[in-house]
Amino acid sequence: MPYPFTARRTHGFTESVIRGMTRLAAEHDAINLAQGFPNFNPPPEVTEAAIKAIRDGVNQYAVTWGAARLRRALSSTWAAWHGQEVDPDREITVTCGATEAMAAVFLACLNPGDEVLIFEPFYENYGPDAILCGATPVFVPMPADGPLDLDRVQRAITPRTRAMVLNTPNNPTGRVLSKDELSVLATMCIGNDLLAITDEIYEHIIYDGEHVPMMTLPGMRERTVTISGASKTFSVTGWRVGTIIAPPGVTEAIRKVHDFLTVGAPAPLQEGVAAGLEALRPKFYKQLAEGYRDRRDVVVAGLRAAGFTCSVPQGAYYVLADFRGVSRESDVSFARRLTGECRVAPVPGSSFFAVPDSGRHVVRFAFCKTRDLLEQAMARLVNLPALFGRRGEH
Ligand code: PLP
Repeated sequence: MPYPFTARRTHGFTESVIRGMTRLAAEHDAINLAQGFPNFNPPPEVTEAAIKAIRDGVNQYAVTWGAARLRRALSSTWAAWHGQEVDPDREITVTCGATEAMAAVFLACLNPGDEVLIFEPFYENYGPDAILCGATPVFVPMPADGPLDLDRVQRAITPRTRAMVLNTPNNPTGRVLSKDELSVLATMCIGNDLLAITDEIYEHIIYDGEHVPMMTLPGMRERTVTISGASKTFSVTGWRVGTIIAPPGVTEAIRKVHDFLTVGAPAPLQEGVAAGLEALRPKFYKQLAEGYRDRRDVVVAGLRAAGFTCSVPQGAYYVLADFRGVSRESDVSFARRLTGECRVAPVPGSSFFAVPDSGRHVVRFAFCKTRDLLEQAMARLVNLPALFGRRGEH
């Protein structure tokens, strides 16, 4: 029963299941493979610069749309990585994480009644973001290891469709959209006058193929909003620094929303992220991906040995694992029992699907942890079939 003073739009979704599992993991002293945050330190280039900024007096509001140094650093790295010029004064906004970025973009670009395409399984914020601004999320499947059904995407587009949200590399599946797939989606955006809103927070955590930013494809520069941030690349999820690259007119609207939502992202931490972008060379990004590849292999092997079925993620740091080889209970009950009895916390799969039943047989494990902790977690799962045995057969 909702509290009487609460707005109807907040009744359309539940609280975050992912963040809820983190609380449950803490209660049971479980290894938290639920929420995606690292247990290791960020690069010293980043932390030292933030500490120095605080000592040097960078402790008041930054420019609302982002510290000039960070916007310039992002513009330079984008040019170096993708050979595309981005105007730091008119096309970049710094936000409180990609989370605020997505909410600000939705509020700035979607009108009540608009439809927005969201690929499923999805990162759990997109649906609520759509509901908060009165738009209707329309879900289209994107399988973990099969081809994207492009005809189905086309059929989901109606005269009310205004945007599509693309998250590649993907959370929760690790799927990376190929350049060919992105090109077809780009053609659909252009043909139907849609905005592409891309969540590229895992752009540097990629194992197979390459990350192709949608905005680099022909005709997409003027109709793409590119969201990313420092959380995953620099292992600073608690700093809350996200970035948006968008054409000038769209940026203007986004900046208005962002200003009234949060005023700005933390000033000294923006200096730290800028220093990281300036100082870190391609070797850093290569080692980041290699480190995660090693952890991925530990977790995929461990989960398979414990009786799970899963495909090997091509990017990001999650495995979506089918547990029907171990138990027949629901994802929520399985995830809670795994947390309480094995002391390893995953996220119930249903939180990544519009129709919860579609994720009833899967749970998601995050592998953004040190190898030793992942090995410890996998060791706890070894006896899973014996422990859970037939108890789940109900
Ligand atoms: N987007 C995706 C796909 C994520 O997986 C996450 C965090 O797990 C976020 C956005 C949140 O990013 P931020 O910490 O920058 O808000």
